[in-house]
Amino acid sequence: MPVPKVKVAVIGGGLVGLSTALCITECLPQCSVTVISEKFSPNTTGDVAAGCLIPHTCPDTPLHQQKAWFKETFDYLFKIANSPDAGDSGIHLISGFKNNGGYLESRKVSNVWDLHGTYDVVVNCSGLGSRDLFGDHSIYPVKGQVLEVKAPWIKHLIRDGDGNTYIYPGISGVTLGGTRQTGDWNCFPNTQASKGILDRCCHLEPSLHGVSVIQEKAGLRPTRSALRIEKDVLIKNGQQLPVIHNYGHGGGGFSIHWGTAKTATKLLQELITSMPNVYAKSKL
Ligand SMILES: Cc1cc2nc3c(=O)[nH]c(=O)nc-3n(C[C@H](O)[C@H](O)[C@H](O)COP(=O)(O)OP(=O)(O)OC[C@H]3O[C@@H](n4cnc5c(N)ncnc54)[C@H](O)[C@@H]3O)c2cc1C
Repeated sequence: MPVPKVKVAVIGGGLVGLSTALCITECLPQCSVTVISEKFSPNTTGDVAAGCLIPHTCPDTPLHQQKAWFKETFDYLFKIANSPDAGDSGIHLISGFKNNGGYLESRKVSNVWDLHGTYDVVVNCSGLGSRDLFGDHSIYPVKGQVLEVKAPWIKHLIRDGDGNTYIYPGISGVTLGGTRQTGDWNCFPNTQASKGILDRCCHLEPSLHGVSVIQEKAGLRPTRSALRIEKDVLIKNGQQLPVIHNYGHGGGGFSIHWGTAKTATKLLQELITSMPNVYAKSKL
């Protein structure tokens, strides 16, 4: 008789949720994975980011661990960039996940216990949503704003010393940034901030004077003094709900997402191995 699959719900369809879901489907074929999210691309934090691979340090997470996550992510993306799939890599996460048999559900989870019974394990990649969903008051937003402008003559990345002002050429436009407003929950762009970004970028690169702005974008970096990547078991009325947390990537989600996805997948594998009647066959 076939062994029933381990039903996994990943909460959060941002960069972290999707990369974790993809990693699970690639490494743990005994799992059936559903990503449940209030928002998907193009409405996630990663859609605002320019997505540069730059090491950001998280003060209370061991540095050697952050370096390892960065290296794993760099190696993974470098391989994609040098493969024939490079042009499609922007859609790689969702299509890769679906091709591996994963499911997507667009809705808000109001209470994590609503998933009990339907799913065996919850993987929490809800970023700032962890505040309400798991009562974690140590996660907070750092608002960031950028402008996308039409400036095809800009071919090189320009960044000032403290990283507050930057000019990143991309495929569809050039991203000008940025801002860092700690504790600001307003996710809409602000005219005054846009003016400040444009002024600072024109100072760095005078050819940008009079440039046409395609879009103003703002997002909330899900920030914590330490990333939370760990196993947890919720208990209510004698019932248990195993959870793997993977959130708190702040301003560095792009830079470490694949490394943290692999760590979360490893924790899930350990959890499954310890679950009765489940044969864990992994490709990790
Ligand atoms: C302006 C800006 C520039 C940046 N630049 C860079 C950069 O150059 N390099 C870099 O490495 N990083 C950068 N970042 C950071 C990076 O974008 C983030 O670290 C990353 O996108 C966070 O991803 P996430 O999946 O954790 O969060 P999110 O994208 O916020 O995803 C969380 C998901 O959870 C869902 N969710 C939450 N609660 C619930 C619930 N109760 N029920 C269902 N779904 C729920 C949300 O709908 C959302 O889809 C930047 C960020 C900003 C804002």
